[in-house]
Amino acid sequence: MLLIVHGGAGDQRPTRKALKILSTSLEHGFALLESGGTALNAVVATLTLLEDSGIFNAGTGGNLQLDGIRRLDASLMEGHELSTGAVIGAEGIKNPIQLARLIMALPNTTMTHVGAEKIAKAHNLDPLLPPDRTALEKLEKIKKGRGKAVQAFKRYFSTVGAVALDREGHLAAGASTGGIAAMLPGRVGDTPIIGAGVYAEDGQGAVSCTGRGEDIIRFSLAKEICMNLASMSPAVASRRALKRLVKAGGAAGVIVLNRQGIFSIMHSTRFMAAGYADRKGISIQEEV
Ligand code: ASP
Repeated sequence: MLLIVHGGAGDQRPTRKALKILSTSLEHGFALLESGGTALNAVVATLTLLEDSGIFNAGTGGNLQLDGIRRLDASLMEGHELSTGAVIGAEGIKNPIQLARLIMALPNTTMTHVGAEKIAKAHNLDPLLPPDRTALEKLEKIKKGRGKAVQAFKRYFSTVGAVALDREGHLAAGASTGGIAAMLPGRVGDTPIIGAGVYAEDGQGAVSCTGRGEDIIRFSLAKEICMNLASMSPAVASRRALKRLVKAGGAAGVIVLNRQGIFSIMHSTRFMAAGYADRKGISIQEEV
């Protein structure tokens, strides 16, 4: 059994608070695995906690788009039946990862906000409060100097993701984000795109990515790494994929777990907030 979590990759050192919350989320998610919970449920529980923390770029802390609206993306995949669930641009939903879980149970795989929000309401998912003054002021500042927005994007992404291996040997991967800072309304990154932001297949492995979504999509990064696990270790598969991405101008961080429980946490950026939990305990690292 193993659970890996990340809180984004970038050129800025993650705060202590961020690392502490990652640790708490690992504790919570791993306890679920230990009590016989599925990899999928552990990923959802871990990411829900991070969405609720308000300090990551997901759920309550998600970035605002340029028009001042928080449109959130999330996706999930489990490796046993290859079921997937994804939501794009959810407005007013506190936990997009739970919405992705609900969508996974439907015959559909991906919903945009129009239908997704109806599903959320029908299942009484908690609503997301409107952005507070601090969030709106931050957006105004970014708008005044677009150059700074690009810089903020380079500094630290802070999207969240998790991968897990449960007692039965099943794998799952998930991710949740508010996209990149002050992005154009309607822009969609890799996070809700299965194969780009996440991928899981029991015979292979589970992968969750973070970074500049445009490049991650181009490379179908999560699926590329996952398929290469048939013949490569997680470290070799991650390094190879990141090398190709960086060559094309991309920047990313990945958490990769194979079916034997061997894993890698790798990033092309300076920092990545990440950690893992296994039977021996919890390990958190800000630079891996
Ligand atoms: N990959 C996300 C996106 O492009 C951002 C991130 O990972 O922080 O929307």
